[in-house]
Amino acid sequence: MAGASVKVAVRVRPFNPRETGRNAKCVIQMQGNTTCITNPKQPKDGAKNFTFDYSILLADDPSFACQRQVYKDIGEEMLLHAFEGYNVCIFAYGQTGAGKSYTMMGKQEPGQEGIIPQLCEDLFQRTGENSDPDLTYSVEVSYMEIYCERVRDLLNPKSQGTLRVREHPILGPYVEDLSKLAVTGFSDIRDLMDAGNKARTVAATNMNETSSRSHAVFTIVFTQKRRDQMTSLDTEKVSKISLVDLAGSERADSSGAKGTRLKEGANINKSLTTLGKVISALADMQSNKKRKSDFIPYRDSVLTWLLKENLGGNSRTAMIAALSPADINYEETLSTLRYADRAK
Ligand code: ADP
Repeated sequence: MAGASVKVAVRVRPFNPRETGRNAKCVIQMQGNTTCITNPKQPKDGAKNFTFDYSILLADDPSFACQRQVYKDIGEEMLLHAFEGYNVCIFAYGQTGAGKSYTMMGKQEPGQEGIIPQLCEDLFQRTGENSDPDLTYSVEVSYMEIYCERVRDLLNPKSQGTLRVREHPILGPYVEDLSKLAVTGFSDIRDLMDAGNKARTVAATNMNETSSRSHAVFTIVFTQKRRDQMTSLDTEKVSKISLVDLAGSERADSSGAKGTRLKEGANINKSLTTLGKVISALADMQSNKKRKSDFIPYRDSVLTWLLKENLGGNSRTAMIAALSPADINYEETLSTLRYADRAK
């Protein structure tokens, strides 16, 4: 697709102890950019192929497709777009336990950091190398959670309840009173991320005790200011970098949900379905299957409404679909691959 604005990667994690304990078989094969999934009930004729920008397999070899490589393939390119002045968005999609948080946030051990800390570190590394006295940078971050269509500030422990989503006539949708904190180095961001992660709502479901039922949106507002020596006037280039760990994509019914859980499931599905529609409408527009004036349903969910300036238009988007390798997750994995396929 010419000038594609959505880059799609799929990433398989290694078997987890539960899958190994159940003697699970691997249903995913990857070759080049092609991912093949085999239906465990029809191994002979049930294989389906999908092609993505990147297919990332982590087999038993931990040096293969490590966190560093995932950042190099996907994160760095998006950061360079931000330096060019684009808004960028990276989001991780997939069922709970498939590796979304590992991909986006990762762990604090060396070599295990995910895209968000690596991108922040790289950002400060690059701005630190600047020797042009007329060019200055500023970085502000916010971290919020969207749960059941309501927004919560993860960087302000005092902010109880939900914040209002409003629309600025020029800057577009925004969250009223959301903390936006200026940071001057990676360690500032690290501290804020840790505090925000602790504040995240996690609710146990039958599927996974710490299953995350909310979307976490980490936003960096990156401003590059250039002073013109002749006129002494400043020009500013502002890029918004949104890094999103989506709620688990599993259907509410597959985790035995009832009551509140079921309502959560419906809301999660609504945002994920809307996100899918928005991304595929934008992809169709890029490939000229759709006209610019055609309707894009940003307003149908809080998530897509708030990401409006990061998807489409003057922006670059990458999606990473996280997959379990195991036959016991075949249906969910296939549905994740189909979702990712529609985003291309
Ligand atoms: P999700 O955010 O999709 O619910 P997690 O990122 O929490 O899933 O991953 C579930 C578990 O699998 C975690 O213990 C995580 O450390 C591990 N994991 C996920 N992806 C990988 C990977 N690529 N390599 C090694 N471990 C992984």
